Amino acid sequence: MELPNNDITVPHNKRSIEWPIAFVVFSFQIIPVFVFYIEIPAWCWSLGFLFFVIRFSFVVIGYHRYFSHRSFKTSRVFQFLMAIGAVLSFQGGVLRWASIHRSHHKFSDTKKDLHSPIIYGFLEAHVLWVIRKYDIDDSNIKDLTRFPELVWLERLWMLPSLILATLFFIIGGWPLLLVGFFVSTTVLYHMTWSVSSIFHLFGTTRFPTKDHSKNNFISALLTMGEGWHNNHHHFPSSARAGLYWYEIDISFYIIYVLEVLGIVWDVKGVPTYVLEKNNI
Ligand SMILES: [Zn+2]
Ligand SMILES: [Zn+2]
Repeated sequence: MELPNNDITVPHNKRSIEWPIAFVVFSFQIIPVFVFYIEIPAWCWSLGFLFFVIRFSFVVIGYHRYFSHRSFKTSRVFQFLMAIGAVLSFQGGVLRWASIHRSHHKFSDTKKDLHSPIIYGFLEAHVLWVIRKYDIDDSNIKDLTRFPELVWLERLWMLPSLILATLFFIIGGWPLLLVGFFVSTTVLYHMTWSVSSIFHLFGTTRFPTKDHSKNNFISALLTMGEGWHNNHHHFPSSARAGLYWYEIDISFYIIYVLEVLGIVWDVKGVPTYVLEKNNI
């Protein structure tokens, strides 16, 4: 019997596979192997890396800290630019991403959490949850669905990535398409999925949250600050996940610069007394 796709009480690892999504995800794991068979000029690697950093910063600052947690305010135009930047990572529309992530915080490490490694195991939490049929409950994203341009982009979320991939092919042929789009998207996938899997398993716990979220210095360096995941679960609406100078949080530094430039404002932080009390 087919399980209802929008019932969050159904154990997520019992849902059926969404085969088109599974095919896409599987293809992205295989195609990067071609870097061993095609000569890639150094400039393709450099441009690919630059776009990789740009796209990942939109994942963290766009999908996560802005659309999921509304940790700062901005103009409607910049909001839409962030949405386009976020979908360039080929991870679906911002509404779906934000809805699932808000559910993750609400139900962390329970059966209702779609990607808990504690409940469903590492592989399910890392990648299998992505390819399962699940219709989001849009009751937790009413603040976002009131923007028609975001609803429109939700239907056409693949378009910006396909345009970027086409441009890469026109500019640099197969080598740039391979490293600039396929290799970098695969790395983006694993870095984003790691927040669901690794960041609830390995690291230290500063705050006694009700979940298994962890802080991890190495993960934070590699994921532009997202590795301060226990801090983040304790203060989900804060724009900064690294709370001290030694907790490097590159995404927050970018948000800070955007604030100085007047592009974003009302950046949410953590109360000073909490920072003083927990400093070590
Ligand atoms: Zn988490
Ligand atoms: Zn979050």
